[in-house]
Amino acid sequence: MCVDRIKDKENYFKGCLIGGAIGDALGYAVEFYSYDRITDKYGPQGIRKFDLSRSEKALISDDTQMTLFTANGILAGETYSALTGVEIAPREFVYKAYLDWLTTQGYPAHKTDKRISWLMGIPQLLTRRAPGNTCISSLLSGEKRSLSKPINTSKGCGAVMRIAPFGLFYGGKDDDGFLTEAMEIGALTHSHPLSHYACALVSDIIGRIIYGKSNNENYDTLIGVIEDAVKNVCHKVRLPYGEQFEKSVYKAINLSKNDRSDVENVTELGEGWVAEETVAIAIYCAIKYQNDPIEGMIAAVNHGGDSDSTGAVAGNILGAWNGYAAFPKEFVNNLEISNVIEETAVDLVRGTDLFKDFKVLTADWLKKYDLCR
Ligand SMILES: [Mg+2]
Repeated sequence: MCVDRIKDKENYFKGCLIGGAIGDALGYAVEFYSYDRITDKYGPQGIRKFDLSRSEKALISDDTQMTLFTANGILAGETYSALTGVEIAPREFVYKAYLDWLTTQGYPAHKTDKRISWLMGIPQLLTRRAPGNTCISSLLSGEKRSLSKPINTSKGCGAVMRIAPFGLFYGGKDDDGFLTEAMEIGALTHSHPLSHYACALVSDIIGRIIYGKSNNENYDTLIGVIEDAVKNVCHKVRLPYGEQFEKSVYKAINLSKNDRSDVENVTELGEGWVAEETVAIAIYCAIKYQNDPIEGMIAAVNHGGDSDSTGAVAGNILGAWNGYAAFPKEFVNNLEISNVIEETAVDLVRGTDLFKDFKVLTADWLKKYDLCR
């Protein structure tokens, strides 16, 4: 019987964001390591728990930072709409939130627009954690980019690694507008169709996990959810490179059924620096370890590629599937700013009720999400 996650949204929203952050932090310690260097340092099984040697907490990287700013932008935009009655696309305020993130990285991002992100007041977020060059250069251009106004040909994973809150918040709507908006948010910084496909697919997977119908037998297993999402995205999104994307995802699904080692399988899927490989590695690990999120993230980070991003996306999917309660305390307690990540997830849950119940708009809420007017 498929779990009804809408009844316990807080558990699954928190699971998605905390899972992504645990995968990110686990992988950030080995982001630029070859596989041999990982096993030399951590033993033949690779890194299996947080490396706390550099600080008291496991450090999150730009993947989690930008994920939090995606959520902040979505909620600031929805609050603006609720207060003014003016409907705006999510990407508008997500863009402003990304400019705020850019400022946290030491760049004078925007002089005229007001800051909209309460997250800028969190000291631990005012740090550089190997931020992606594509995100920085696109945002520094000073012009909001979109699907129709590309800025580069990058298919780096910097867009898909931060998209999870969009799937959590807007998922469950089986319309083309949902997929297009996921791609528009990615297109703020990355212009290659393979990045667009990746953003659409991860949003759709997370949306289906949370809002998938409880009587859908197909959704008793994660592979059923993922196969439906792939079919949907590849059918509805009509961009170049669609076949290549589909092939890469099905390769991951097929590899998850064999009994070779994870290192062999993951290596066959690529290194995860580019979006279609990041998604393929995350999907392989999530399907293979659907009921053991930590083991899935361990598989997602122990390779010679972009370990924090593959860990983050695998963690988003596995966390949405299993819920927050499935994560061992030793991981949650040792994670940097886990309180801010959890608070953001709870706000996303409350925000989904904004238009049903204006009581969400308390003074505390407005202090966080009504900074732009
Ligand atoms: Mg990173």
